[in-house]
Amino acid sequence: MLLRDGRVIDGGRVTDETDVRVDPETGRIVSVGDLDPNRHERVVDLSGKTVTPGLVDAHVHFSLSGERSVEDVVALSTPQLTLVEARNARKTLEAGVTGVRVMGARDIDVVLKQAVGAGDVPGPRMVANCRSITITGGHGHHMGREIDGADDARRAVREQVKRGADFIKFMTTGGVTTPGSDPGAVALTDEELHALVDESHRRGVHTATHAHGAEGIKAAIRAGVDTVEHGTFLDDEAVDLFLEHDVTLVPTLSAPYHISRNTEAATREDVSKVDFVYDRHLESFRKAVDAGVTIAGGTDAGTPFNYHGGNASEIQFMAQHGMDPIDAIRAMTETAADAIGLEGCGVVEPDAHADLLVFDDDPLSDLTVLNDPSAVLKGGRVVSGSVPEN
Ligand SMILES: [Zn+2]
Repeated sequence: MLLRDGRVIDGGRVTDETDVRVDPETGRIVSVGDLDPNRHERVVDLSGKTVTPGLVDAHVHFSLSGERSVEDVVALSTPQLTLVEARNARKTLEAGVTGVRVMGARDIDVVLKQAVGAGDVPGPRMVANCRSITITGGHGHHMGREIDGADDARRAVREQVKRGADFIKFMTTGGVTTPGSDPGAVALTDEELHALVDESHRRGVHTATHAHGAEGIKAAIRAGVDTVEHGTFLDDEAVDLFLEHDVTLVPTLSAPYHISRNTEAATREDVSKVDFVYDRHLESFRKAVDAGVTIAGGTDAGTPFNYHGGNASEIQFMAQHGMDPIDAIRAMTETAADAIGLEGCGVVEPDAHADLLVFDDDPLSDLTVLNDPSAVLKGGRVVSGSVPEN
């Protein structure tokens, strides 16, 4: 299949009138450039349209659906939650997100990943884990794995790798959405952090930490964590540590935004915590952008009022608060794919998966265009919308 004459946004560059050849058998891109159609090849005319890689969201929760409180979800049985997750995976793909790193719950996500990979359930390509690791009673304990001590930390990592986890996520600090949890406070000890990271790396999987307060962020980076989620209260020392250890920040600006826009419906505790963190969060994000920290787009989709399918808003928020629009797109395609280890995703180049979005209008002049692709292709197949027929 030859996608002809589209305007391609990829790798922080724009190339006009570019042809992309896709092998329908492998679902991968064969070549990109000025190409002539082969005999009998299907040709799709994309002149006047824009093509980007499918979006890659480095932080989603398929177990959550934007409920006001996580306590609404805890009541669901595991069979119910499994179906909820499958629905959220489909909504995410249809919105143009062709790759995600999903923060697991109750060991469902590693199974969902297999079903999506086999083509049984529609969804994006997934980097999945089983459940977040937290101290007993800590942030996310409702659906997490509670640990106490370094030996238990290693055991928790081994359990998840055994079940198929691609990465390990742990809660270094408290959080916004768990009642009674203080986002600024450090929860895990240095011994536990070291054990979690060391054991993960020994088992060949990467690590992500939920972290709001600066002390927790710094402790996790010193322990060797690979990605920091939220990064709400960054100080200069924390920014230096990101650069020195080449750690990726996943700022999830969508999460506090949606709570702050729904103060009537949100829980009182969430509102008071978000009032406290949101401005500082934006300030920290700008500080990280200015310093040149590697930033990957991630929405925290599923958290209160942060619905699956609205993922592209994160690109608008990143651009609104200090990133160039084209860099913000790159952060939620190529950079996110690199950060989460999703091979062959987030780029329009030979051998990459033909995971592509087509837009009638130009996303660079209006980033809200990204909310509504006219076609979503995964592995060279149109999975949502349509491309012009000749
Ligand atoms: Zn999250």
